[in-house]
Amino acid sequence: MDIDALRRDTPGCANRVHLNSAGAGLLSRRTLRAMTSHLELEAAIGGYEAADQEKERVDATYTHIAELVGGRADEVALFGNSTHAWNAAFYSLAPAFRPGDRILTGRAEYGSNVLAYLQIAERTGAEVVVVPNDASGQLDTTALAALIDERTRLVGVSHIPTSGGLVNPAAEIGRIARAAGVPFLLDATQSVGQFPVDVREIGCDMLSATGRKFLRGPRGTGFLWVRGEALEHLDPHVIDIEAATWDGGRGFTWQPGARRFATWEMSYSNVLGLSAAVRQALDLGMEEIGKRAVTLGGRLRDRLEALPGVTTYDLGREKCAIVTAKVDGVATEDVAATLALHHINVTTTTPAHTQFDTEERGVHPLVRLSPHYYNTEAEIDRAVEVIADVARGAGERR
Ligand SMILES: *Cc1c(COP(=O)(O)O)cnc(C)c1O
Repeated sequence: MDIDALRRDTPGCANRVHLNSAGAGLLSRRTLRAMTSHLELEAAIGGYEAADQEKERVDATYTHIAELVGGRADEVALFGNSTHAWNAAFYSLAPAFRPGDRILTGRAEYGSNVLAYLQIAERTGAEVVVVPNDASGQLDTTALAALIDERTRLVGVSHIPTSGGLVNPAAEIGRIARAAGVPFLLDATQSVGQFPVDVREIGCDMLSATGRKFLRGPRGTGFLWVRGEALEHLDPHVIDIEAATWDGGRGFTWQPGARRFATWEMSYSNVLGLSAAVRQALDLGMEEIGKRAVTLGGRLRDRLEALPGVTTYDLGREKCAIVTAKVDGVATEDVAATLALHHINVTTTTPAHTQFDTEERGVHPLVRLSPHYYNTEAEIDRAVEVIADVARGAGERR
């Protein structure tokens, strides 16, 4: 990868040290152009007419996403974010849950997913069972294998949490779920675009992802992948003229494939932006992207960990480009604010967005730094220097 050229093609690289790709990755000029040229076409000839004219490029979005995750184009549905994609899968299963049925999830589960589990538990009497972590802090697959039984209706796991550098052992979880014949819903919002994610290798039945994070697509995009064979077990919880066709009488027929989860209207400029971003990731190569992103994350984590008065909090055997840290004696928001003064973009974790991890560790809020392949080693080192200064200042005050 020619990092200088990629940075020149990324306007944000000139203005900020962007260590917030877990929040929203930076758009490339190529992606930006795909979006603005479509908006201009809509303004010039009309929205429906523009969509017709660009139909091939719109359709290619599904093909690119299928290539990205290792599935088929007809197994992909587009959404305005990852949450709606995940909801489309979860709420297609959940209304059928009965008292005593179980949802198995992990400590790293995303806040909105946890709320959905709690809502369905309240409505149906199903039970939410949190699989413990192993000694490394990843989901304990031995415990999962012991807990999964005939009461289990779903295994729902976040591949990477929103609030840490952990990579859960998704393929091992997939093997256990498949052996037990239990549907496996993987929240891959932080992993898709960061490193290769292959649904065949993982063995999940449903996967949700967002466009804006490590994929570098526009905000307001997301997708769901559903294994073709899993469709017969899912009853979509909403329906519209995109999802199904009227049969002329009092019945209707679902669309074949995953389109049955989508609704008719969407932002075509966003979709074409997502398409361009996915194509760019494929052209660069997810292996290469993953290697560099994870290496930069490792460099950042190691250097922060080596600083006196700084602690990192990333769990697991395998870690990714997300790095979480705290400075002794300094409020997390103040560390983030100091970084912002130096034009270094980071964010902070929220205890309520990672409920089961908060219950277990109580360490949030943390500073969350998330480099991507377009960052440089020098940028990583600059962020480390600023944090070292903050830690030194706090040490001197004590
Ligand atoms: C950001 C995030 C989500 C939600 O994605 P949206 O596109 O904002 O809906 C879900 N899961 C995880 C793990 C996330 O980090």
